[in-house]
Amino acid sequence: MTLKRVAVLTSGGDAPGMNAAIRAVVRTGVARGLEVVGVRQGYSGLIDGQLQPLGTRDVAGILQLGGTMLGSARAPEFQTPEGRDRALRGLGQHRVDGVVVIGGNGSLAGAQALAGTGFPVVGVASTIDNDVNGADITIGVDTALNIALEAIDRLKTTASSHQRAFLVEVMGRNCGYLALAAGVAGGAEVVVIPEVEMSPDAMADELQAAYTRGKRHAIVVVAEGARWDALALARHFEKHRERIGFELRVTTLGHVQRGGAPGAFDRLLATRLGAAAVERLADGESGTYMALARGAVTPLPLQQVLTPKPPPDRELIRLAQLMAR
Ligand code: ATP
Repeated sequence: MTLKRVAVLTSGGDAPGMNAAIRAVVRTGVARGLEVVGVRQGYSGLIDGQLQPLGTRDVAGILQLGGTMLGSARAPEFQTPEGRDRALRGLGQHRVDGVVVIGGNGSLAGAQALAGTGFPVVGVASTIDNDVNGADITIGVDTALNIALEAIDRLKTTASSHQRAFLVEVMGRNCGYLALAAGVAGGAEVVVIPEVEMSPDAMADELQAAYTRGKRHAIVVVAEGARWDALALARHFEKHRERIGFELRVTTLGHVQRGGAPGAFDRLLATRLGAAAVERLADGESGTYMALARGAVTPLPLQQVLTPKPPPDRELIRLAQLMAR
């Protein structure tokens, strides 16, 4: 079947670079002779029929903007066959014959469910969590990482002045990549991630050892999805305050990491993945998602996202510990 009209949507948590991916889908699609429509609010917009035509001018000026011009949403209804049937009916009414889904793990699982009905779908891996199985690094991770680093660098300067330890909580529900990478690049004394079990007492020992070695500051980077979040850890450490030595403070970066302009890496990655997704869709491909895998733009089976991503590289974990000396 020759595609005439394709829809593009962004779903799940927004990530810096999603706009660059939308722009790439629209401009590449139009260059291929396709009509492109944008879906508002992720899968919710598919279900409610919130579709609007997008031309090359409509995506002007968004390359450098964070967030997503189409809006994003979590749409539990799409996880039911009834919800997906409504979405399919809406796609039929708008004469759409292919969809590009830009999003993270859950959104790509949704894309897999849609592709399973026989509807042509190609995904684009985009989430700051970096939890998409098969992808080296997803759109938004690099920008979020740089924001976390800037915060850590700033916190270190104030921490040194008062000989404090800062617990810095970064995003990452099930995947500690962002925390681990920020910890290594930011020179953290301790990194706390969901994939590695570590007792709060062992962490307190690390802080005490850092204090005894004469460190003026200590940084503990905590992934939000770790068994102990930053506040719980701080409460625990407070009980051992005398032994630890450092005064304790907590900073939760939260959504600050999602906002703001995407960096060069994410703009480039989003442009490459968005363009490849719509080109492959136009060539008749379906049931795949575009990701950077082993350094190259690669189509991977959507089925793969249903399997959890393996834990982070042991070597990076080892380096995080080694560099904290
Ligand atoms: P991030 O992790 O960056 O927040 P995400 O894409 O993983 O992004 P989720 O909230 O997990 O975010 O998923 C987004 C949406 O994708 C859900 O609200 C739902 O509409 C759809 N979705 C998730 N899982 C499935 C599934 N198994 N089947 C169908 N749709 C799904």
